[in-house]
Amino acid sequence: MNKDRQEASPTTLDPSDWDAMRTQGHRMLDDMFDYLENIRERPVWQPIPAEVHAQFRQPAPQAPNDLAKLHQTFLERILPYAAGNSHPGFMGWVNGGGNPVGMLAEMLAAGLNANLGGRNQIPVEVERQVLHWVRGFFRYPDHASGLFVTGTSMANLIALWVASRKALGMQVRSQGLSAASRQLAAYTSAGAHGCVAQAMDLAGLGTAALRIIPLNAQFEMDLAALERAIAEDRAAGLHPFFIAATAGSVDVGAVDPLNALADIAQREKIWLHVDGAFGALAILSPELAPRLAGIERTDSIAFDFHKWGQVPYDAGFILVRDGEAHHDTFASPVSYLRRETRGLAGGSPWPCDFGPDLSRGFRALKTWFTIQAYGTEKLGQVMAGTCALAQYLKQRIEAEPALELLAPVSLNIVCFRFRCEAPESNRINAEIAVALQESGIAAPSTTILSGRLAIRAAIVNHRTQRGDIDALIDATLSLGAKLAKSGTESGTSTGTTTA
Ligand SMILES: *Cc1c(COP(=O)(O)O)cnc(C)c1O
Repeated sequence: MNKDRQEASPTTLDPSDWDAMRTQGHRMLDDMFDYLENIRERPVWQPIPAEVHAQFRQPAPQAPNDLAKLHQTFLERILPYAAGNSHPGFMGWVNGGGNPVGMLAEMLAAGLNANLGGRNQIPVEVERQVLHWVRGFFRYPDHASGLFVTGTSMANLIALWVASRKALGMQVRSQGLSAASRQLAAYTSAGAHGCVAQAMDLAGLGTAALRIIPLNAQFEMDLAALERAIAEDRAAGLHPFFIAATAGSVDVGAVDPLNALADIAQREKIWLHVDGAFGALAILSPELAPRLAGIERTDSIAFDFHKWGQVPYDAGFILVRDGEAHHDTFASPVSYLRRETRGLAGGSPWPCDFGPDLSRGFRALKTWFTIQAYGTEKLGQVMAGTCALAQYLKQRIEAEPALELLAPVSLNIVCFRFRCEAPESNRINAEIAVALQESGIAAPSTTILSGRLAIRAAIVNHRTQRGDIDALIDATLSLGAKLAKSGTESGTSTGTTTA
């Protein structure tokens, strides 16, 4: 086909002027480098003006728009109003900071437009190489399987699907759960992420079949209570099949005692899964790895490269010891996905045989680039560094009479409050958190611990430094003093005790 005929095509989406596209593309790339290089100069987050909201409610355009103008809209109307999790002052929820190498890899992946469902192509080998590395991180055997997924919510669900199919037999895939001869029971702690219960719901097992085991003083699963619950369920004729442990709880960063849980799971013949959404990758830090002792004895691990691993969103991962059960839970013999030993349909089994997605993006590439470019040692140091910052924040809180620590600082999450009278404490601390976010200085989130509202700082971002911790403390103290005073003046503070 000659060039003239290509240019004449009225339906291609490629530009007629590649040079102009190239110039525009370089400008876009430069702008994103500028954004990352100067991110400290921006507010972490800022409230979104009504007219900006309104712009995103316009109907779909029928006619083309100029790319340079669209990019300008992105710079003015989208970029400044993102959540800000790349910013060093972002400490809300558990969000990763991303990294510039991962950003470039995303561009390469989008240009290649590879579909990672399967087929005989090196992009699938890149994903398999990351799986090979992940097996090594957690000392899982070679027959363990794994898959990139959106995030740990999906990874937990996949683990639950595989474990339940294994417990009930693969015939449930055709006959459904109602035909199963056993009634299953699962276990997790009161500190588990909400997606564990949601997975029970989505897997059709029901949240009522999930026992919520209380926490000990360290916010870890109470093992005696777990053993009692298992015994009671067995006595009632149920089939205990799944324990979802947490390595790095979302509230306070606690790690369940994995070795002791592995002992119980082994004795009781129960699948031991770990929700290690952010915490599992601490295995890359020689300093933090001992906290995860026993993780190598589990049946499955769900975690995110996009949190502590700093890979741009999204990059969740599920690792399953029993690769055969994992495959048998999802593989489907449909004629249009027939495999061959040669040609494009070679290379079976394919990633689509290990999860519900057929078409899949190239999440592996930004992960592969991030790990290759920085090395596992550096990534481990980043995680240990955020834990050191959490200890620094803890010390600063303990040194301030106006502040109170509300939970042990196990890893990188610190929960605290501004001290004020009991009935007003939750309201004022919630207001402090909002005021901090609106100030653009720092963006913590909140949680409730034993009925008390805590300002929660999850330090995940590799860009965060001591100065950012100081800014959080200073702003909390001044906003707290102001809000507590205005609360008293308006006569709303009636409390007599300090909570
Ligand atoms: C973030 C998180 C999840 C959910 O992971 P996603 O990647 O957001 O789906 C689950 N469990 C824990 C402990 C988390 O921190």
